[in-house]
Amino acid sequence: MLKVKVLTIFPEIFPGFLATSLTGKALKEGLWQLEAINIRNYAFDKHGSVDDTPCGGGAGMIMRPDVLGEAIEQNYRGGKIIYMSPKGQPLTQKTVHRLAKESDLMIVCGRFEGVDERVIEEYNIEEISIGDYILTGGEQAAMIMLDAVVRLLPGVLGNSESIQNESFEQNLLEYPQYTRPIKWKNRSVPEILLSGHHENVAKWQHEQALQITKIRRPDLLEKNLDSQ
Ligand code: SAH
Repeated sequence: MLKVKVLTIFPEIFPGFLATSLTGKALKEGLWQLEAINIRNYAFDKHGSVDDTPCGGGAGMIMRPDVLGEAIEQNYRGGKIIYMSPKGQPLTQKTVHRLAKESDLMIVCGRFEGVDERVIEEYNIEEISIGDYILTGGEQAAMIMLDAVVRLLPGVLGNSESIQNESFEQNLLEYPQYTRPIKWKNRSVPEILLSGHHENVAKWQHEQALQITKIRRPDLLEKNLDSQ
C-alpha cells in the first residue's frame, strides 16, 4: 500500500480532485493513503514564517531550509523524498511506473521562488518536473503526478490490460479509438474494426500507433528503436 506525505503551506488543496473518480475510490478503499502536512506548523516564530529573501538579491522569496528541514525530519518514516520542481527530470510514464512500486513517498511542494538548495542536497531529494512551464506551486504538480501513479496501483484500474496499449507504454502514442454509432455525420468507423478478425485489428492498430507517433512525436519513436 502506498503511503504519501505531502509537505505544503496549502494543505487545504489536498486531496482536491484526487478524492474524485478512480483515485478517490482507491483512497476510500485504502489502496493508498494521503497526508497533507502544513510546513507552517514547523516554523520557529509565532507568525509561521516559512520564507525569506534570496541571498545575493533577486526577486521573490525562498523557502527556508531550517523550517522545511524540521518539517521533513519530524515526518519522515523512510522512502523517497521528491521535490516538485521545474528544474527536475521531466515526469514520464516510466517514472510513474517506478514511483508506483514505492511504499512511502514524501513530496515537497514549493511556493514563491522555490526552496533553499541545501535542503535538496541534505536529504538527497529527487527533483521532478511536470513540464517546461512555471506553476504557482508544487501542489498542482504533485497532484498530477499522484493521479498518474495511483492509477497504476494494483486494484485501481478495473481492466489492467487497458494499461498496456496506452500512449507512452511502448513509447508509442495510442491508435485512434471508436465506438457506436458506426455511422455518424457521414463518417464511418474504419471497416477493419468491424471485421471481428483480432489479428488484423491488432496489426492495423499497431500501424496506426506507429504512424501517429511518427507524425506527432518522432522523439518517442527514436526511444522505441533504442530499446529494441
Ligand atoms: N523560480 C523557480 C520557479 C518557482 S515556481 C524557477 O525558476 O525554477 C514555484 C513552485 O512551483 C516551485 O518551487 C515548484 O515546487 C512548483 N513548480 C512550478 N513549476 C513546476 C513544474 N513545471 N513542475 C513541477 N513543479 C513546479
